[in-house]
Amino acid sequence: MERGMVEAPGFTGAGIDRADHLRLDPERLVQLAGDPAARLLRLDGLDPLLDAEGRLCWQRVKGGEEMIFLGLQAGEPLFAPVPNVEPGQAGWSVMALIAQMRGEEAALWGGARSLVEWHSRHRFCGLCGGRTSLFRGGWGRKCKGCGADHFPRVDPVVIVLAEHDGRVLVGRQHRYPPGRYSALAGFVEPGESIEEAVARELMEEAGIVATDVRYAASQPWPFPGQLMIACLATSASDSLRLDAQELEHAMWVDRAGVEAAIAGAPGAPFLAPPPYAIAHSLLRHWLGA
Ligand SMILES: [Zn+2]
Repeated sequence: MERGMVEAPGFTGAGIDRADHLRLDPERLVQLAGDPAARLLRLDGLDPLLDAEGRLCWQRVKGGEEMIFLGLQAGEPLFAPVPNVEPGQAGWSVMALIAQMRGEEAALWGGARSLVEWHSRHRFCGLCGGRTSLFRGGWGRKCKGCGADHFPRVDPVVIVLAEHDGRVLVGRQHRYPPGRYSALAGFVEPGESIEEAVARELMEEAGIVATDVRYAASQPWPFPGQLMIACLATSASDSLRLDAQELEHAMWVDRAGVEAAIAGAPGAPFLAPPPYAIAHSLLRHWLGA
């Protein structure tokens, strides 16, 4: 890895050709679904269904059900079903599954999960309340009442490591597992740039003034459809004023402490985020920078 580069974050690198031009061709989509090489992703609700080796499970395309055309992988058409699922917060159990998965398969499943959950939330039109139906190979829904087109949404979230005098700020939310700390994060609001969102989040959650905001990397996060935008920022001071609603605790950690946490060493000052989370990539990036 080149110095200063961020290694491939989790949920990236699916390695498929999304073949956008095929989404607009309904006849071609029917042909692709009928291709003997076509495969349909198997899901357990929204969770991945894995075999004994931790690989994604696939089945033949049966037809007759709503499907998303994920794209082409080595020329093979890949589809995901659109089951009736209850949208909602992912449990910790799916995280244990993700930890077993190869990065490219987690990326493929993650994109499908975001899209499947989006479909389940958009069966009715936000304009007229009419029923919607899937179009564009599953990359949109069209209202049967007013004809409005609806497209999958991606919500940008900034996630930031503030640094001051050789230490970085990590915080823990109330819902985290014991010992876990991570970079601070929050949704980008309408009318905000990434830099402004970073500065606001650090002020709101930790009471620090951020300068010199630098983009590091990004990652799709499929719970349900965020784009995590990882940044570094400099803080002029290390005095904190925490928002108790958002953070249970926060602390400045030096290089040795971050190294110990990333290594999972006994006695590390905190439990690092899992490797598939971009906060993990960001901490490693800071160590290598
Ligand atoms: Zn409508």
